[in-house]
Amino acid sequence: MKKRRRLSEQEYIEGVLAGDRVVLSQAITLVESALPSDQLIAENVMSAILPFTGKSIRIGITGVPGVGKSTFIERFGQLVIEEGLRLAVLAVDPSSQSGRGSILGDKTRMEILSMDKRAYIRPSPSGTALGGVSARTREAMLLCEAAGFDVIFIETVGVGQSEIAVKGMVDFFLLLMLAGAGDELQGIKKGIIEMCDALIINKADGENIEAAKRAKREYANALHLFPIKENTWLPKVMIGSGLNGEGLQSIWEMILSYKEKMINNGYFEKNRADQRLNWMNDHVRYLLESTFYQNPTIEKRINDSLTDIKSGNVSAIKKARELVEIFIHQIKMDDK
Ligand code: GDP
Repeated sequence: MKKRRRLSEQEYIEGVLAGDRVVLSQAITLVESALPSDQLIAENVMSAILPFTGKSIRIGITGVPGVGKSTFIERFGQLVIEEGLRLAVLAVDPSSQSGRGSILGDKTRMEILSMDKRAYIRPSPSGTALGGVSARTREAMLLCEAAGFDVIFIETVGVGQSEIAVKGMVDFFLLLMLAGAGDELQGIKKGIIEMCDALIINKADGENIEAAKRAKREYANALHLFPIKENTWLPKVMIGSGLNGEGLQSIWEMILSYKEKMINNGYFEKNRADQRLNWMNDHVRYLLESTFYQNPTIEKRINDSLTDIKSGNVSAIKKARELVEIFIHQIKMDDK
C-alpha cells in the first residue's frame, strides 16, 4: 500500500468537517496511533472538531459470533440510510471473530453497505494498545459525527469487556440473541442482558419463528424481574430477521421513541454528560499508564526484576509501589 503523506493538523480538521471519507479514515488512524507526537496532533484535532459532534444517535450492537450481527447491520443499515440518514459503522475488536478480522473481511461482511456512499464502515483494531480499543473508538465515533454522520453503530462481539466500554459511549444498547440456545450456550453474561435497552431475538424467520416468539415471551418475563433503571425504560424484547428484514422497521421506530422519551425526561443529556466525565477519567488513566510504561527507567526496572516478580520472590504490590515512587521521583527531578 502506498504510504500517505502525513497531513497537517489543519488538513485533518478541514477534511473531517468537509466529510471527506479518506481524511476521516486518516484521522481515525491518527487517534489510534500510540506515537506521542501523533497523540498531540490528535488531541488538537479532537478539540477542534468537538463543537461539531453530538448530533448523531449512537447505537451499540452486540451478540456472540454467528448470531447474525453483520447480516443484521447490513439490513438495518440500509433501512437507516433509506430514511435519508448517513450511517457510520464502527466494528470493535473484529479480530476476535475467528478468521474474519481483516479490514477486507469486514468490508465483505457488509457488502452492500460498504459500497454505499451514505454509509461508512470502519473496523477498529483489537485492543493491544494501552488503554484498549474502546477509548479510541469514542474518538472515532466523534470524528464520524463531525464528518456529518447521523447514526453511528458500534458493533462488538458480545462476550467480553468491550460491551461495558461500549455501553459507556452509546445512547442505546442493542443485544442480539438466538431462540433456543441458552444464555450459557451463547456466552452471554447476565450483566450484558441487564445493560441492554433492547434484546432482539434474531433469525426469527422460517422454522425459527415460533421458537423466537417463545423466547421473546421468556426474556420479556425475565427482564421484568430486573430492577427498574434510572431512566425508567423497561428494556424491550423484539423479534427480527436480519436475513429478510422482518421486524427491523419496528426496531428502528422503538429506538427513535426511546430517544424522544429520553430527551424529554432529561436522561439523554445526563447520560452523555456522565459519559464525557468518564471519557476524561479514562483518558487520564490511559495517559498515566502509557507515560509510565514508556518511561525508559521504568521499562528497565521492570525488565531487570521480571524473574523475581514472576517467581514471587518479590511482592508484586511492593514492586508496583516502588516503581510508581521511582516514576514520581523522576518527574520531580525532571521539573527542576
Ligand atoms: P455474525 O458473526 O454475528 O456477524 O453473524 P453473520 O451475520 O455472519 O451470520 C452468521 C450466519 O447466520 C450466516 O450463515 C448467516 O447467513 C446466518 N444468518 C444471519 N442472519 C440471519 C437471519 O436473520 N436468519 C437466518 N435464518 N440466518 C441468518
